[in-house]
Amino acid sequence: MIASKHPIVDSKKCEALCTCGHEHQTPAMEILSSEEAYAVLAQDCALACTEKPALLIDDENTHTAAGARIAELLEDNSVPFRLVKLPGDSVSTDELADRIFNYSSGSGLIIAVGGGTMTDLGKFVAEKREVPFWSVPTAPSMNGYTSSIVAIKINGVKKTLPSLPPRYIYVDPKVIRNSPLRLRQAGFCDVLAKSVSDRDWQAESLLFSGTYCALPSAIASEAESGYINDPEKILQGDRQAVMGLFEGLLFSGVAMSLAGSSAPASGGEHLISHFLDMREAITGIKPNLHGLQVGTGIVLSAACYRRLADLEAKDLKPAAAEAFEADAARIPYIWEDLAPEVEKQFLNKRDRLLKFDTRLPENWDELKNIFAKVRTPDFFLDLFHRVGLDMKLSSLDIPEEEFLLGAMSARMIRDRITVLDLSAHTGILEEAARETLEMLS
Ligand SMILES: [Zn+2]
Ligand SMILES: [Zn+2]
Repeated sequence: MIASKHPIVDSKKCEALCTCGHEHQTPAMEILSSEEAYAVLAQDCALACTEKPALLIDDENTHTAAGARIAELLEDNSVPFRLVKLPGDSVSTDELADRIFNYSSGSGLIIAVGGGTMTDLGKFVAEKREVPFWSVPTAPSMNGYTSSIVAIKINGVKKTLPSLPPRYIYVDPKVIRNSPLRLRQAGFCDVLAKSVSDRDWQAESLLFSGTYCALPSAIASEAESGYINDPEKILQGDRQAVMGLFEGLLFSGVAMSLAGSSAPASGGEHLISHFLDMREAITGIKPNLHGLQVGTGIVLSAACYRRLADLEAKDLKPAAAEAFEADAARIPYIWEDLAPEVEKQFLNKRDRLLKFDTRLPENWDELKNIFAKVRTPDFFLDLFHRVGLDMKLSSLDIPEEEFLLGAMSARMIRDRITVLDLSAHTGILEEAARETLEMLS
């Protein structure tokens, strides 16, 4: 029997889990996880590419893992296609995306073979070309496979833009299982981000947007038992545990699609990673894997939340205007040529930040209930250790002063309100950053 694709989420179930009453777009995404997945992909391609060729995007590493095999199968099925094989250390930038876009002229379908970078580039180009996008994940390294956003550096600034998720996802479990340990570790950190980012979103929603819904988090937690109970098994490459992690990442991406934004899975902890990515332009320091950088951000967010939960409404001082001006004044020194872009982002949330003076004290008791739900930094560090990460900044090639600068300034690079803004306003950010630095040294 030929294996067949199935929808990744059930819309009936989503309706039942929704707490906000708004309509959620259930993404029209189908997945096939089977050893025959690539063969089915080639057959589907033969049907889809009768008029225009497909464009297959991979890199040196994912070509070996899966791309070469897929290209072979496409040839066997007489599918017209072109292949773009990128260097192994490619990064998703507007410059590279433009080059692939030009190359994709005349293509009727984009297929990306790989992890974060390949998926982002594929989605971005397909969206711009207005052609379907299919994904072939090669590692449980991040949660972007199923999300409706792309993360891309535009003029040096890391942005997340809306984008259609893939229509079809083809998974060969063997490829996922054999992915390098470092990628599995990165994915493990990325999937845990939701434990803090969902709280960021809940707090932001209470203060301003009112957009919070428990559905995305419920969906994102769907496969949690598969990876959180025995992280050691991910380290060992146990089939069930690695596929559990992969599923967790897929659901985490679906959660973002359902929310219509990255809010459920990307908060202050992700800003730390984006900060380090962007700083490469100034320091020349090559960023580490997305998920590993996010892992350091998770520890910081947890440290912030613990301190916030200890504050009382009477401890809150009106300091919004000064805090904003003081930070804004530092932007040119931190960002040099990138300063105008960063200033734009920070200015976008100025009005909301100024309202902290009144809204935080008014809502503090309710906020504290949210803060108290976050696990301790030690809880996360223990999980990271058990998956084989020592989580030392030195092992991650993140200089201490860069981490500290990121902790203190990452809130400026994005107009989303996160725990980093709450912490800066209440004056606990620096202590939390220093405590985190100690834990990661
Ligand atoms: Zn809802
Ligand atoms: Zn992420």
